[in-house]
Amino acid sequence: MSFACDPAGLKLPDAHFIGGAYIDGPKEIEIRSPSTGEVLGSIPCASADVVDLAVRTAREALERSGWATLRPRERRNLLCAWADLMEAEAQTLAGLEAICSSRPFTQVLTGDLVVTAEQIRFFAEFADKEGGALVPVSDDHFGYVAEEPYGVIGAITPWNVPISMAGWKLGPALAAGNAVVLKPSEMTPYSTLYMAELAVRAGIPEGILNIVLGDGQTTGVAITGHPGIDKVSFTGSTRAGSAIMENIARTGIKPMTLELGGKSPMLVFADADLDLAADCLDRGIMANAGQGCVAGSRMIVAEEIAEALAAKLTERFARYRPAHTLASEAGFSPIISETQLARIDGIVQAAVGQGAELVCGGCRFEREGSFYQPTLITGVTENSPAVREEIFGPVATFQTFATEDEAMILASHPTYGLCAGLFTRDLSRTMRLTRRLEAGTVWVNRYGRSRDHILPTTGWKSSGLGSDLGREAYRANLRPKSILIDL
Ligand code: NAD
Repeated sequence: MSFACDPAGLKLPDAHFIGGAYIDGPKEIEIRSPSTGEVLGSIPCASADVVDLAVRTAREALERSGWATLRPRERRNLLCAWADLMEAEAQTLAGLEAICSSRPFTQVLTGDLVVTAEQIRFFAEFADKEGGALVPVSDDHFGYVAEEPYGVIGAITPWNVPISMAGWKLGPALAAGNAVVLKPSEMTPYSTLYMAELAVRAGIPEGILNIVLGDGQTTGVAITGHPGIDKVSFTGSTRAGSAIMENIARTGIKPMTLELGGKSPMLVFADADLDLAADCLDRGIMANAGQGCVAGSRMIVAEEIAEALAAKLTERFARYRPAHTLASEAGFSPIISETQLARIDGIVQAAVGQGAELVCGGCRFEREGSFYQPTLITGVTENSPAVREEIFGPVATFQTFATEDEAMILASHPTYGLCAGLFTRDLSRTMRLTRRLEAGTVWVNRYGRSRDHILPTTGWKSSGLGSDLGREAYRANLRPKSILIDL
């Protein structure tokens, strides 16, 4: 195998980044390569005291630097300089992401990073283009709405696309004039740390962006419960989202944005372009080996085309070749850990035990690293964990329907409502069903985001609270203040 990025040449940052400097602590958490299983290094786990130091540093930095009251154009310029630096340092950033995560180096370099730099510029532009509204109230007084940043945002991100998730949180929070204390996943800390280092090199004042390392139970809980955190912005599982809501209710109410899990359906009608649908369904579930909140893990297909579509999918699934994330050729992603791989396999085997049939896959690849085969399951019952639970792996269920109403019943999930895909050439059906589908995003004859930063991503039901991306995300980092002046 040839490496696109030499792992030996990467210096792995492995300490908290607070006030513009690395601050170490006892190394408690091992970082592993999912491509090989080898231990790459270890990181500290921030205690409540370290989180407190980061929060105090952020607040002091807000006061010292005047970040919130800086001319908005200057904040915009600094964020754009940061995006430029991220592009200039793309090789290192992509290497630091790929070495410990499921993201192939070449995809991070040409995809995630390019889009994240664009998104940071997109949010930077809001800084001097959005403002409060003047509201004439009556003859003797007038009022206006001032929009002010919260202060210190506590952000927590997952491991599946670390740079992208950090970008989603940091772009709007910083553009709006907040300081941030961010905790990346304890499995994939390196690229987020380097992003913060680059922010300081770009001129963003020290202490405005701080990274604390650690797990959810210690560090995450300390962030969400800290009285100096003015708002929580979280992306991760619905289970952790519930725990965060409880902790916030217990420790003092504060606003929160939660981007949580999904179990998204992709519906294919008999009139759809079958090759296009097969391509989209394939990418919809196999991108990042199914480790995406938007993964289209439930395929719901018209009876008359089911056999033909299943054949097209198995042909496409058979083409995936697992590869080390740093390999020259972008390959099929590894599963982030052995624990997660065992969980995926447990759900697949339980479905088979209940009478489901494997069309393909259903076991790991026999090679080093945590790679699971692209898997398609039919004959599942509505209550099977394979249909109900977010698997977060390269596994899709395949169900058929006879009528549009039957398709809608299958598509509805009791708890999740993140995304849905619809494949049809019928405009009336498109208009009807896009309204009926219970999801924050509906894609028609395509599946997945590209560079649509202006469109928010919103989880319905237990898939979330509030939005990331779009104008909504910028505004979610500001709080309105009504000011009334007597004339
Ligand atoms: P996770 O919930 O296990 O962890 C996410 C982050 O939360 C990590 O940093 C973790 O340390 C922290 N955490 C865990 N428990 C916590 C607690 N009680 N308090 C505070 N922090 C806590 O999720 P994961 O396995 O890292 O990521 C996969 C999940 O993320 C999936 O469910 C996926 O759907 C979801 N996700 C959602 C979106 C979206 O936009 N909706 C995007 C990406 C990932």
